[in-house]
Amino acid sequence: NLKKHFPIKKGIIFEKNVGAVKAVDGLSFTVNKGETFGLVGESGCGKSTTGRLLLQLLKPTEGQVIFEGKDLSKLNPEEMRKMRQELQMIFQDPYASLNPRKNVEQIIMEPLVIHNIGTMEEKKKRVKELLDIVGLDASFAGRYPHEFSGGQRQRIGIARALAVKPKIIVCDEPVSALDVSIQAQIINLLEELQEEFGFTYIFIAHDLSVVKHISDRIAVMYLGKIVELASYAELFSNPKHPYTKALLSSIPVPNPRHKGEKIVLEGDVPSPINPPSGCHFHTRCRQAKDICKQKSPKLIDYGNGHYASCLLLEEGN
Ligand code: SF4
Ligand code: MG
Repeated sequence: NLKKHFPIKKGIIFEKNVGAVKAVDGLSFTVNKGETFGLVGESGCGKSTTGRLLLQLLKPTEGQVIFEGKDLSKLNPEEMRKMRQELQMIFQDPYASLNPRKNVEQIIMEPLVIHNIGTMEEKKKRVKELLDIVGLDASFAGRYPHEFSGGQRQRIGIARALAVKPKIIVCDEPVSALDVSIQAQIINLLEELQEEFGFTYIFIAHDLSVVKHISDRIAVMYLGKIVELASYAELFSNPKHPYTKALLSSIPVPNPRHKGEKIVLEGDVPSPINPPSGCHFHTRCRQAKDICKQKSPKLIDYGNGHYASCLLLEEGN
């Protein structure tokens, strides 16, 4: 039941809360060891906030993140510092996430310094090893981020995340800032690394075509809530929620004779400050009925771990 509400404050001398941005509004899900869990939704749906909550980079307003039986919010700072070794993140923007004043060696070495792993010589050796693992030349160690392309920078970001041998890596739109031709290379690299080292990925993306190739299970988010969650195969062959159907129909199909109906999603995602009543999706849903404005749908398991939240699927409606 993970929640993150950012208070909106007004007033200069006497600040008072005048509302909240409900960025994440009651998420419950499990991520299995060794799998890739895709988290998809349009921008502003709360997926990056979710990633940060999972790693405790943000404190949840409510709810818990439990990792290997431990409630992360109950750890003291020293325990949490140790725990960070297991939980790493790859960021969206390889241009902004690398410190321009540090060279590649210093950047990749940083987590080893923070966690006090190995002697200086061992750290340097590990950096060379990591550069090799992500497909970069060891001679890059002394160079600076501006000397590299977007794809190379993202490889440096990946090497930094791998340095401390984490168990879970949150990948926050790791390819969306890259050229399409480079995206596949980075996704392939992430897959190879997972096979070799057994990482668990939480892979955040704004469109389904990116997570399709990599995810075992996928959760679709809309305005801070999960609207559908299923295995990759189920979600693509048998989508249940009107929002998922719309997202799927907007993926370009390689076969031009494929006659899938294209569902156009009109308008933007409504503001998470005052989300629409009832089902949050009713303002954009082509199947919306009057009841959708009043009643909130529940996320229900319709079999084989295929969850969806739509009133039309619920019994009696
Ligand atoms: Fe559409 Fe109503 Fe289902 Fe919401 S509950 S997705 S508005 S049909
Ligand atoms: Mg984001």
